[in-house]
Amino acid sequence: MTFLLASSVWWDGRFLAGSALRLSGGLATPVPVGSIPQGARRRVFPGTLLPGLRDAHVHSGLVDLGVLRAGGIGAVWDLGSVPERVAELAGRAGGAKLPRIRYAGPFLTAPGGYPSDRGWAAVGSWRAVQSAGDAVDAVGEARAAGATLIKVTAHAGGPRLPLSTLTVIVEAAHNAGLPVVVHAEGAGTVVEAYESGADILAHTPWTEPLDPGLVRACAQRMRWISTLDIHGWGVPTPEQNTAIGNLRRFLEYGGSVRYGTDLGNGPLPPSVNPREIRALQSAGLTPDEILTTMTDDGVTWIPGGLDVEPTRFADVLATARVLDDDVRPRPGAGEPS
Ligand SMILES: [Zn+2]
Repeated sequence: MTFLLASSVWWDGRFLAGSALRLSGGLATPVPVGSIPQGARRRVFPGTLLPGLRDAHVHSGLVDLGVLRAGGIGAVWDLGSVPERVAELAGRAGGAKLPRIRYAGPFLTAPGGYPSDRGWAAVGSWRAVQSAGDAVDAVGEARAAGATLIKVTAHAGGPRLPLSTLTVIVEAAHNAGLPVVVHAEGAGTVVEAYESGADILAHTPWTEPLDPGLVRACAQRMRWISTLDIHGWGVPTPEQNTAIGNLRRFLEYGGSVRYGTDLGNGPLPPSVNPREIRALQSAGLTPDEILTTMTDDGVTWIPGGLDVEPTRFADVLATARVLDDDVRPRPGAGEPS
């Protein structure tokens, strides 16, 4: 057991006064500094300790996850890779300075449907579903490949699965205890995702402002992954404005969002992405709320200290580092007050 002390600890949505972290079996728990036993193993850091940070939408086949981990992200959801390759990567994650990896099976899509028509989609990263019976097989295959999420596409620009087949996929996934993530793009696709019973949208809807009643329904049951910075990569676009508007309404109705960047899709920084964070602020989230959309197991260290002042927050969070046994604070770092 080790105790981690720092100038400040942020946990469960706020700064905790007079707290340290007890690290036991890889699990960190806040405890009062005064409760640390004499002679216990201690590591002392300047700055702030907080829970591990997760990017809930990456493509490991298109980016270097080791670089992402060096940029402060300790856990990822891979939402579209070749399952055998990402399984191999996930198996090495413990020792290889990679983030922990949770992954979806291949994109389940209609024959000829998105993304089987895209150059970036590697063979094996998508699977055409021919029928309702085939849908059950497809979910079973994904599960056998180690997937703990099922990914489905509903793209208005090409062939798409009938709602009845989508529904069978969702039922089969839920029977196996797996949530379903939908790539919903274009008119009518968010309604389909909702009606199929799916759990998560891979992107905040961006192609049109959604009907408020639909947003309210989504907010009661679904989670949305943010991916706001894929629109313009730092330059405001109409699509990003639409997405932020939809997300603002979703949040007003009590919806739950997860920080995710779609890393691998365009020029996104392989790190905590301050532009994604600023876009989440534009949708109405406070810095404390944004951290809550990102946090996972593990511990993050911000050497200069976390700053939740809204204009500084995003850039400060981008200095985050994943804390592990190899991280050493500079000599001379004092005991916390
Ligand atoms: Zn993606």
